[in-house]
Amino acid sequence: MAELGNPRNTIEIIQKYEFVFQKKFGQNFLIDTHVLDKIIRAAGITKEDFVLEIGPGIGTMTQYLAEAAGSVCAVEIDKNLIPILSETLADYENVSVLNEDILKVDVAALAREKNGGRPIKVVANLPYYITTPIIMGLFESHVPLESITVMVQKEVADRMKSGPGSKDYGALSLAVQYYAETYLAANVPPNCFMPRPKVGSAVIRLTCHKEPPVQVKDEKLMFRLIRASFNQRRKTLTNSLGNSPEIGFTKEEIGAVLAKMGLSPTVRGEALNLEQFARLADWLSGGI
Ligand code: SAM
Repeated sequence: MAELGNPRNTIEIIQKYEFVFQKKFGQNFLIDTHVLDKIIRAAGITKEDFVLEIGPGIGTMTQYLAEAAGSVCAVEIDKNLIPILSETLADYENVSVLNEDILKVDVAALAREKNGGRPIKVVANLPYYITTPIIMGLFESHVPLESITVMVQKEVADRMKSGPGSKDYGALSLAVQYYAETYLAANVPPNCFMPRPKVGSAVIRLTCHKEPPVQVKDEKLMFRLIRASFNQRRKTLTNSLGNSPEIGFTKEEIGAVLAKMGLSPTVRGEALNLEQFARLADWLSGGI
């Protein structure tokens, strides 16, 4: 089978199967070999690795992964792509394809079954309409993970790697940074895809922490505080958290904890780093 990853071979296979792109599945296929090489290099794939690919499309990146990895499991929702994948991946014995919705797959069970429960690498050119649920789902369901290397919207990559003081800083930054270290591997313009997306893209690698970078007594409370703080990001913490039914503390109680932490009563959530959200959660869960 000819290598994909260039416009000619991609068009040829699409025409052969009369494949129709489905916007609802976020189908933008990569047609640039330099970008494909960069993704594989950023993910640091070796023959020791089991790789989960989300959304193989016509199998372009899957071919690259199959060459570099020990084995690959590719999960694709669109049943019309399955016969195409049978052809484009026919030469690779180390690839299996599942016709499933990734949000419904028990990835921890898959890692147990296919990789003996050892940490897996996830590599994907993600469907942008479900970037956050996919990534947070992987982190929160305690899948044994070494890293996640993904193509996402440029704006989402910026949010993932931002810190306090940046306009891009928010709940996603804190959630991703609690679980992983971020590294921006490449910016990718729309002309590297077929069809071209309306937005710029970026490849980001999330290398999972062995231990979280901060200790917190009640992780769930910390994430509730983070979400509530950024739901109304222009409000002070006293106003966004105090009397919030999700949080369950009065404005006075929130104000008292902020004072103990040496923070101004008018501070906003966007000024706090992960460590400070962890301390805030500890003060609140320890009782005032
Ligand atoms: N990996 C291919 C490439 O780089 O050319 C295709 C990437 S395309 C941006 C996203 C792929 O994810 C599509 O093939 C789409 O059908 C698939 N997809 C969309 N939603 C999915 C889901 N919920 N579960 C699994 N695959 C999904």
